Amino acid sequence: MNASLSGKNALVTGGSRGIGRAVVLTLARAGANVTACYRTESEAVRELEQELKEIPGDHHVVRADVRSKEEVDRLVEECRTRYGRLDAVVNNAGVISHVPYDELAEDEWHRVVDTHLTGAFLVIQAALPLMGEGGSIVNIGSRVATVGIPTRSHYTAAKAGLIGLSRSLCKELGGRGIRVNVVEPGVIETEEAAKLPKEKYEQLQARYRQLTSLGRLGTPEEVGGAVLFLASDLSRYVTGATIPVDGGI
Ligand code: NDP
Repeated sequence: MNASLSGKNALVTGGSRGIGRAVVLTLARAGANVTACYRTESEAVRELEQELKEIPGDHHVVRADVRSKEEVDRLVEECRTRYGRLDAVVNNAGVISHVPYDELAEDEWHRVVDTHLTGAFLVIQAALPLMGEGGSIVNIGSRVATVGIPTRSHYTAAKAGLIGLSRSLCKELGGRGIRVNVVEPGVIETEEAAKLPKEKYEQLQARYRQLTSLGRLGTPEEVGGAVLFLASDLSRYVTGATIPVDGGI
C-alpha cells in the first residue's frame, strides 16, 4: 500500500483558490490526472492552469457551477471523454456568509446550502457511473458542522448534511467498493484569511493559538494531505469516517 495516485483520475470542485487549490496540486503531485472546476473567471484560474502545466499528467481547469445540474453533467462528461473513469471525487466548492438567523434571506440560504450540499449530490450522482472498485469520494465538511457557530446556521446545516449524506452513501456504495468520507477542516489560513485587516488577522491568529492543541491555524496543504490519504489505497478500509483536520480544537 502507498500514497501514489499514479494512473488514477480525480475530479475536484472549487479548485481555483484556497483549500481546493491545494487539494488539486497535492493529488496531481501524487500522480493523478486532475480535473478541477471553478465558478468565476479570475487570475487564480490562470495561475492554477500554469502551475498544473509544471506537473506531469492530464490536468484540466473547467468552469462549472456545482449548483447547476446541466453544468455538473457537462463537467463530468468532460472527465468521461478524457479519462473514461474517475477514481477520486472531492466535493470542496464552498461559499460562506455571516448572517443572523432572523435576517437570513431565503436566497442566501439557497446559495450556501445549494453550493455545499446540492452541489455534492449533483456531482456524486453524475460521477458514479464513472466510478467502481477502489473509488473514493471525499466531501469537505467543516469542524463547526456539529459544534455550531452563531450567524452561520445555513453553512453549518449544509455541512452537517454532508455527514448524513456520506454516512448513507458509504453503506449504499460499499458493495461496489466505493468509499465515502468527510474531511472537516478547522480554521485554515487561505488567501481569504490573509486579506483580513491586520488587526482582525492578528486577533484570529491569537484566538486559534489558544483554541488549538497545536497552537496555530492550519494550511491548505495540510487539508490536502488528509484528502490524499483518503483518495489513496492507504485508506482502503476507511469509509463513512469524518476526519477532523483542525490542529486539535
Ligand atoms: P475559498 O473561498 O478560498 O474557495 C472556494 C472555492 O470554491 C473557489 O475555488 C470557488 O471558485 C469555488 N466555488 C464556490 N462556489 C462554487 C460553485 N457554485 N461552483 C463551483 N465552484 C465554486 O474557500 P476555502 O478554500 O476556504 O474553502 C474550501 C472548502 O473548505 C469549502 O467547502 C469550505 O466550506 C471548507 N472549509 C474551509 C475552512 C477554512 O478555514 N478556510 C474551514 C472549514 C471548512 P470561484 O473563485 O470561482 O468562486
